[in-house]
Amino acid sequence: MSWSAPNCPHCPSPSPLTFEQPVDYGPSSHFCLGWVCERCKNKVLQLNPMGPSEPRPGVCLSCDRGELDDAGRCRHCAQLHAQLVTQVERECELPAQAEQILALRERGLYRLAFHAVDLRLVANPDDPEALALKGKLLVAVDRPEPAKPILRRAIELGADPEAQLNLGIALANTGHPREAIEVYERLLVEHPDEEARSFVLTNIGGCYTALGERDRAEAYHRRAVAADLENPGPRWNLFANLFGRGRVEEALAVLDEAVEFPFLDPDERANVCQFRSQMLAALGRLDEALESIDDSLRWDPNSAERVFARACTLRQLGRLNEARAALLRALELAPEFSAARDLLVKINRASGAASN
Ligand SMILES: [Zn+2]
Ligand SMILES: [Zn+2]
Repeated sequence: MSWSAPNCPHCPSPSPLTFEQPVDYGPSSHFCLGWVCERCKNKVLQLNPMGPSEPRPGVCLSCDRGELDDAGRCRHCAQLHAQLVTQVERECELPAQAEQILALRERGLYRLAFHAVDLRLVANPDDPEALALKGKLLVAVDRPEPAKPILRRAIELGADPEAQLNLGIALANTGHPREAIEVYERLLVEHPDEEARSFVLTNIGGCYTALGERDRAEAYHRRAVAADLENPGPRWNLFANLFGRGRVEEALAVLDEAVEFPFLDPDERANVCQFRSQMLAALGRLDEALESIDDSLRWDPNSAERVFARACTLRQLGRLNEARAALLRALELAPEFSAARDLLVKINRASGAASN
């Protein structure tokens, strides 16, 4: 049982891992977290037990099948209940407040966050905020199935609208897009000023995409963009929708707008520029495509993928020497990059044939 960030198993001296994100992996009795070692750059997956579906007095909060003995020790996993409480108390006041639980989550200490929530539910199984938090944590660790009944209960008991949003996500992620749409639509009607309105609208768009109704999906993504002009998520979804249907000019227009945003982070900006370049190339506007991939590389100069994309555009422009130089650069950055190697061979062969 880990109460804090685990140490890197690859490094000889203790090096605490940095939390990256939950990973959808492993059996349903567990959830999985992804960590990275800042020292050796290795990624580490950590499996954690799910804990009880119905926390109540006398059951172990660590595993999902343990009764506690008279000493308060789990008969299944041997976890001492008092020790678990102490660990939660070290990080949160008791009962734990929502923001303290969410702060544990940010650090990757999901197991402790679940314990903190479960302790609240042991004290009061009808605590709507604790139920909503538990559902939110379950959705975050890609365990939407057990999240559904918990979130439904939280909503019945009057939890914040965010519980409806999480229920929508849980339904969509368990293959129930129609039901998810119902939940989302109800949320929009009941809480027209909901802060996450743009997010909800684009999620509805995602559900219609799952149902194969891509016109409807487009309409929702457009509404989502209009609801929050500064949220890049719906724009990406709208772009994917249009591009997926071969509407390249309109897809390009979405990116033209996005590229003007001052608040994109460098990686996102580099992506926008690279996709823009791809759209421009598809429209035969090769000089502009080259400019846009160069913009992309300004934000992310050491990406072999982007250098490779630049090489492809140069080749289309007939600038073979520059294309060759770009491919060599891509291979310098990523020696195993087989597509770059293949294209280099092709260009060398073609120019060899041309000079003969
Ligand atoms: Zn390491
Ligand atoms: Zn146990």
